[in-house]
Amino acid sequence: MDKKYLDSIIKEYKHYTIEGQVADYIPELKKMERCDLGIAIIDRDNIFTAGEWEKKFTIQSVSKPIVLILALMDRGEDKIFELVGKEPTGDPFNSMVRLETYTMNKPLNPMINAGAISISSLIKGKDNEERLARILNFFRLLSDNESLEVNQDVFKSEKETGNRNRSLAYFLKDIHCIEGDVEEALDLYFMQCSIEVNTLDLAKIGLILANDGLNINTGEQLIPKKYAKIAKTFMLTCGMYDESGKFAIDVGIPSKSGVGGGIMSSVPQRYGIGVFGPSLNKKGNSVAGMRMLEKISKDYEMSIF
Ligand code: GLN
Repeated sequence: MDKKYLDSIIKEYKHYTIEGQVADYIPELKKMERCDLGIAIIDRDNIFTAGEWEKKFTIQSVSKPIVLILALMDRGEDKIFELVGKEPTGDPFNSMVRLETYTMNKPLNPMINAGAISISSLIKGKDNEERLARILNFFRLLSDNESLEVNQDVFKSEKETGNRNRSLAYFLKDIHCIEGDVEEALDLYFMQCSIEVNTLDLAKIGLILANDGLNINTGEQLIPKKYAKIAKTFMLTCGMYDESGKFAIDVGIPSKSGVGGGIMSSVPQRYGIGVFGPSLNKKGNSVAGMRMLEKISKDYEMSIF
């Protein structure tokens, strides 16, 4: 792996950005540049970056495995899996159809919106201010970046227009999958999605997960190993929404995408990868980002299979 290689990959894959569109269902996200493409890859000793790696974007659904880990640390496995399942859906990330038909009467997994909103409602704290502070501090700890903050404009934009998520959340409350106040759970979910990061932040979190929760530079176990493994398993089986199966075959790296254009990947014991490419396909995944990861995974034999 070297910088020259990554520069050439960005150059080669940038044109794929014209195949997609930036997310527009959250009005504030329409302001993103469709042709942006950036990447950061880190291992124990090196940081490799290329393209718009430094540009900030909102983490969106990439927050889901991280908040899941915090919820597991807060409440334990039994409580978490009482409220959400462990199965992939094959449906879009914001789908509500299976909420009523799934025999278990709970969201199928914590990587879809329904499951993630349930998980947010389980974060400990006396009010949302304290819960958000705990989430932010956790993201800062894992990314080793004290400056992470919520983008208030994106938060407000999604809060104002998030009717589908709001309907999911009220349904979840009805089937006892939200603890506490529904609007508070939604607000917390919208805020966690609006945390601004860059590709290096995602790569750093990806590397901690790649090492089963251990910060290999400080020797600190930041996440219990079994929770890091649960998060990575969900990333592999459900992390790219209803494209997770194809991604597992083409790329084979536990990864999570978000509609801000981010993808966080963890190559076990080797690399943390952060990608930014806000031009999305119909499934809400970064078009050029996925193709780039496929190429890099093949060149460096990163597939876990
Ligand atoms: N905040 C977004 C939503 O709930 C996150 C979705 C995503 O990144 N796929 O719709």
